Amino acid sequence: MQSELSHLNEECGVFGVWGTPDAAFLTYTGLFALQHRGQEGAGITINDDGQLRTKRGLGLLNDVFNAADLEQLQGQAAIGHVRYSTAGSNLLENIQPLPFNFSDTQFALAHNGNLTNAETIRKNLEDRGAIYHSSSDSENLMHLIRLSKATTLDEQVKDALRTIKGGFAYLLLTKDRLYAALDPNGFRPLVVGKLPNGGFVVCSETCALDAVGATFFCDVQPGQLLRIDESGLSISAYTTDTQLAICSMEFIYFARPDSDIYGVNVHSARKRMGALLAKEQPVEADLVTGVPNSSLSAAMGYAQESGLPYEMGLIKNQYSARTFIQPTQKLREQGVNMKLSAVKGVVAGKRVVLVDDSIVRGTTSRRIVKLLKDAGAAEVHLRIASPALKYPCFYGIDIQHASELIAANQTLAEMRQTFGADSLGFLSVPSLIKAVGLNTGAPNGSLCVAYFDGKYPTPLYDYQEQYDQEQEKLRRRDEPKHVTTSSY
Ligand code: AMP
Repeated sequence: MQSELSHLNEECGVFGVWGTPDAAFLTYTGLFALQHRGQEGAGITINDDGQLRTKRGLGLLNDVFNAADLEQLQGQAAIGHVRYSTAGSNLLENIQPLPFNFSDTQFALAHNGNLTNAETIRKNLEDRGAIYHSSSDSENLMHLIRLSKATTLDEQVKDALRTIKGGFAYLLLTKDRLYAALDPNGFRPLVVGKLPNGGFVVCSETCALDAVGATFFCDVQPGQLLRIDESGLSISAYTTDTQLAICSMEFIYFARPDSDIYGVNVHSARKRMGALLAKEQPVEADLVTGVPNSSLSAAMGYAQESGLPYEMGLIKNQYSARTFIQPTQKLREQGVNMKLSAVKGVVAGKRVVLVDDSIVRGTTSRRIVKLLKDAGAAEVHLRIASPALKYPCFYGIDIQHASELIAANQTLAEMRQTFGADSLGFLSVPSLIKAVGLNTGAPNGSLCVAYFDGKYPTPLYDYQEQYDQEQEKLRRRDEPKHVTTSSY
């Protein structure tokens, strides 16, 4: 099943705070540190003595909020959201937090992730009379909470959490408490911090804790429901059927390098990915360069391991947003041009190892190889610090169709040719797992690597049919097109 709904709520950032007089300002500051997780919309809901008020809008945080807005949003608790969406879903009604005003109470909801049974739930609930305010899958949780027959709000929330499937880090603000919940696989990151004044913060990444002066308290574990209120923080489990499978793309690309996920620093993990890539995919060359900013850590690791000089072969215009985060392919392509330039004085006449963190559609790779060649590079050896993305993801990153993924459609040799590179090599899945180095005992080093190997840690629910059809289409092609991890 594939519709508008399933395109919503991709990678986003959430931030919540409880028990501090400057809640709106801290939420703004925390969201600013999470801006890399979504740039198409932002919002804050404040709890002002039991009254919830929401301001949200399209664009970057600074497009939506000015100093006067923050002045007006006075309160002791708040939740906020930065949103990443894809074509067609850029509607104000979908910008989070989603506010709900019932006759007896108010709620606000912020969600990072993607639900895999959202359409089924919505259809069932609409058949029973539910009226949705948005086309966002996140809204399901609210309807399920309201329809639960349990007698306490805690149990209603748990009931609802047991019904939804997929990837989710949820924040729910009410008049007298803040809930935070993580899906049973912990696909999305979610951490808790403490403010010096005793207040609590729950947010997507530790970089936002640092930004607001909070100290790290704990990672939220898969299947947990946290409740923060006047009496402090209490943690319970809404399910014990859990297994950590954190999205490996968080380590590869999404998260900020200064964040730690389950105790692993993201920059250091990327450096190890680069170092293992140098071991697996060595090449004779004069220098190593990265693609600012997301692959710089991996490029450093490659350079250190290979003994080649690390150079600044490409620079990024500081004033452009991430290129993938654009609604259309044409804009994406224009975005790459506006964003990156080659440093001729560095690369002219040189054999360059160009390290990027990942390849999705291949747009960036084509551009960056050409940029270096146009600047006079003698050879460009493209090295990717992650395995080839061959399968879609349904847990909250924006790759829902195999048809979008160049590695699902071209062999390694074809891709090398498409990019105009002199050679091309990817990191292997075992090396990715080793580089991250999480040792919780869960399969695949506690990572989700389904987009590399097609082995999903959960049923796909509403997406199964679409997935089967797409895979069947790929199978029916003349010859197997999937790449190996060896270089070409
Ligand atoms: P593409 O140009 O489509 O191949 O996109 C690849 C680039 O986008 C990589 O260099 C990454 O830095 C970045 N990227 C990788 N995965 C994603 C994703 N799921 N969402 C947004 N950006 C991504």
